Amino acid sequence: MTERKRALITGITGQDGSYLSELLLEKGYEVHGIIRRCSSFNTERIDHIYKDPHNVEARLFLHYGDLTDGTTLRRILEEVKPVEIYNLGAQSHVRVSFDSPEYTVDTVGMGVLRLLEAIRDYQQRTGIEVRFYQAGSSEMFGKVVEIPQKETTPFYPRSPYACAKVYGHWQTINYRESYGLFACNGILFNHESPRRGPTFVTRKITRAVARIVKGKQKEIYLGNLDSKRDWGYAKDYVRAMWLMLQHSEADDYVVATNETHSIREFLDIAFGHVNLDWQNYVKFDERYLRPAEVDILIGDPAKAKEKLGWELTVTFEELVKLMVDSDLKALEETQEASHHFD
Ligand code: NDP
Ligand code: GDP
Repeated sequence: MTERKRALITGITGQDGSYLSELLLEKGYEVHGIIRRCSSFNTERIDHIYKDPHNVEARLFLHYGDLTDGTTLRRILEEVKPVEIYNLGAQSHVRVSFDSPEYTVDTVGMGVLRLLEAIRDYQQRTGIEVRFYQAGSSEMFGKVVEIPQKETTPFYPRSPYACAKVYGHWQTINYRESYGLFACNGILFNHESPRRGPTFVTRKITRAVARIVKGKQKEIYLGNLDSKRDWGYAKDYVRAMWLMLQHSEADDYVVATNETHSIREFLDIAFGHVNLDWQNYVKFDERYLRPAEVDILIGDPAKAKEKLGWELTVTFEELVKLMVDSDLKALEETQEASHHFD
């Protein structure tokens, strides 16, 4: 019997980590994830695929660690012996990165370096070839230099988060060029799903729509409604990550839909889906503005399509509607569940 491929994922409890784990398990991998110790459980997004490790069928294993703790990263590499590593761990919220810049840069920037250094030593010592995926972001493009943005567009980061991602991007290229590491940068544009963190604008809106419909919320406070984003479906985007590591050459790829929509357009579809007019519910709060804004993102995924055969399966409108439907369903289920206790 051939041995299963072993993958290690940082950020496994996040939106993308959970979808990527599902994909790798479907493909027959043994999946290892790094989780942070928290005072409450935060494994909600992966609970449905987790089996007790004593179960002989278990193929998903979790290890305590942190991107700010290089010693532990090294120990986990030695223990797990992965052949593919996906670095998805991050303080991933742009607005929060202005409030906590040092921590954000430590995790998002220095975290990449710690992992790359650990991989370099591990690969040299064991002779095992490791393939590395770095979760880069369209936020690196920041202020408009060229539209649509592609792999060759110069970066102009506009937040501590984006600056740290640029650092991680270039370190990844440096380790590829200096040590021959098979290391790829995905430059992923915004991608959303029912598992998107509830403080990102898309999920904040779709949750509010569901709660307004169910009479649990009267209004929603938002910041800048004029910015435009290229929003895709997270499940499609994790497939691109995997495809990058299966290619014969390590390279960098933009993953995007090549469409851009404003927050207003998102509101139109989300509220329109339940026959409501968003203008009656949306209020402004300057707390949600950023010291510097990224006005427009739109990515050209031609290279990923051509070299990786990557394709989208969900349109923007379908994405908004599926998120609203999922938030409505979740509320109905919790209402049903609470009835059992009446
Ligand atoms: P999430 O915010 O949903 O998940 C982030 C993950 O990182 C969580 O598992 C979190 O753990 C973990 N994490 C946070 N801090 C640390 C740390 N110090 N050490 C180890 N792990 C940590 O992000 P997404 O799944 O949406 O995104 C995945 C990656 O892709 C991130 O790097 C993000 O910056 C990047 N990206 C995302 C885009 C998007 O639109 N979603 C676009 C482009 C890039 P915990 O659950 O304990 O908080
Ligand atoms: P980002 O593109 O990674 O920053 O993803 P977000 O979903 O956090 O923000 C997308 C855009 O929505 C940004 O231009 C924000 O300024 C804008 N926005 C407007 N109101 C809000 C809000 O209440 N929360 C968030 N997170 N973003 C908002």
